[in-house]
Amino acid sequence: MAKRSTPKKQQANSQSSRRYKTYQNKARKRLLQATSVSKCDKCGEARLSHTACLACGYYKGRVVIDKSKEMDKITKVKA
Ligand SMILES: [Zn+2]
Repeated sequence: MAKRSTPKKQQANSQSSRRYKTYQNKARKRLLQATSVSKCDKCGEARLSHTACLACGYYKGRVVIDKSKEMDKITKVKA
């Protein structure tokens, strides 16, 4: 095992917190890049990039999910 020298001076709190903050910022940046959220062109709702908008069903200016065909909630049972 290699010999390690003992620290000559106690490290200042600001120095260690600065080191931690740079690590924290890098981790935050990586997280933000992992998930890219963009706005829908049609309705302005937040949506995942490269996916159709769940609010209006549009993707790249055309309808992908037809919202009119979606079934209404069944409230009455016909006899
Ligand atoms: Zn939309």
